[in-house]
Amino acid sequence: MALTTCPSCSKRISDKAKSCQYCGFLTGTASEEDLLRQKRMQTIKRSQSLNNQSLLAMLLFVLGFGYMYWGGTRPEETEYYIAMTCSGIGLFWYVINRVRIVIEKRFK
Ligand SMILES: [Zn+2]
Repeated sequence: MALTTCPSCSKRISDKAKSCQYCGFLTGTASEEDLLRQKRMQTIKRSQSLNNQSLLAMLLFVLGFGYMYWGGTRPEETEYYIAMTCSGIGLFWYVINRVRIVIEKRFK
């Protein structure tokens, strides 16, 4: 018994299985067109997820930065460091996501 990848959910399943045990995708009866459609759906879902993460990261950065500047906190207060950390994480996360989006578009 060998393992293969489910075209729908990308989990490892047996190549003898007629359907995926995780998502119920019928591997035995799937045509080339079905597999292609599933792949395209996965690509769209991944790209949407990356875009959503970018948006969240940007929001975290803006909120942290905004609170640091206009929240009335001073550099020696804990809130200032929390806001600074939030904006730092947001910025870092955003940059990582932009790189992932570029890689996704270039190589897939
Ligand atoms: Zn599956």
